[in-house]
Amino acid sequence: RRVIFSGIQPTGVPHLGNYLGALANWVKLQRDALPEDELLFSIVGWHAMTLPQPPKQLSDARTDILAVLLAIGIDPTRSIIFHQEHNPNHTELAWIFNCITPVGKLRRMTTWKSRLAASKNQGDDAEMDETGLNVGLFAYPVLQAADILLYNRATHVPVGDDQTQHLELSRVIADQFNRNFKAKRQLFPLPTQLSTSSKRILSLRDPTSKMSKSAPDASSRILLTDSSSQIASKIRSAVTDSISGITYDPVNRPGTANLLTILAACNDEDVNKTVSGYVGKNHGALKADVTEAVVEMLKGPRKEYERLKMDKEYLRRVAQEGADKARVKSEVTMMEVRERIGLL
Ligand code: ATP
Ligand code: MG
Repeated sequence: RRVIFSGIQPTGVPHLGNYLGALANWVKLQRDALPEDELLFSIVGWHAMTLPQPPKQLSDARTDILAVLLAIGIDPTRSIIFHQEHNPNHTELAWIFNCITPVGKLRRMTTWKSRLAASKNQGDDAEMDETGLNVGLFAYPVLQAADILLYNRATHVPVGDDQTQHLELSRVIADQFNRNFKAKRQLFPLPTQLSTSSKRILSLRDPTSKMSKSAPDASSRILLTDSSSQIASKIRSAVTDSISGITYDPVNRPGTANLLTILAACNDEDVNKTVSGYVGKNHGALKADVTEAVVEMLKGPRKEYERLKMDKEYLRRVAQEGADKARVKSEVTMMEVRERIGLL
């Protein structure tokens, strides 16, 4: 029996990268799950707070994401779908884990190191290092470990390659807890990564960085809620290169390769097969085909999203029922955690 947990931050409307890299896989996992498998998908508001979020924007994004998850086919009668912040057990367990996690381990996280590097570049004086960064940003991998381990037993976590190091940390924390608070039965299993085919979709404006919800330039991403004309205009203006002809060369032609990756993913085929259809063709033809494929793929979900967005009462009920189920499940773990540490 598997317990599958994954999350998405309410930092904006999900984009094509989220969909092809993660969310489409959630739907597949749900479809292929055995009856005894449990699936939990969380909209992780406490993670979003590690960077400043305007409250209204945060509040809108969490509802948008819930509607998008339902629209793409996450079924609330099969999977537990909930807002992280509706279950305080996440923060309680994160605190307990904070108290057994060495600072040095967190300093080695590449996400932290890149934040640190970025903040050094911004400051006028080279002194500016950790002082401008908040504790939450430093410790969020611990919260992530709590998210995963809260739901007990053999845990499978479908996440992209960018999360491998965090998952490794959650194994370290689980093991540390098991050794510090020994009993006949080990409390936490060591979670394993469910490697997805992990398609990494790049920014349409800067193909050296990934497509991201929180990048300032809105034309760098295709939202799952974009209209056909918005999709067309973003793809038309996507940065490629001035080399003629179409080849798949992620190193030297990242923008072109990104469009091919997207097209291959939409058609559910190998990228080598996709590129073979472009002998003697140019970027114009490729962009037209990518547009058509993306529009076609997102048409259904977008229509369903529009419908769900109107039904506030249904969304509220789904969130409430999901939170109730998540709390009940995690409470079983927390009772045992509290007992073992002496804080029941
Ligand atoms: P933010 O910029 O706020 O971090 P994000 O776009 O990175 O937003 P997350 O909520 O952090 O989205 O991640 C949700 C899931 O989407 C994760 O499993 C992550 O691995 C995946 N993901 C995010 N961006 C991409 C991308 N460009 N390509 C493929 N997968 C992605
Ligand atoms: Mg992210």
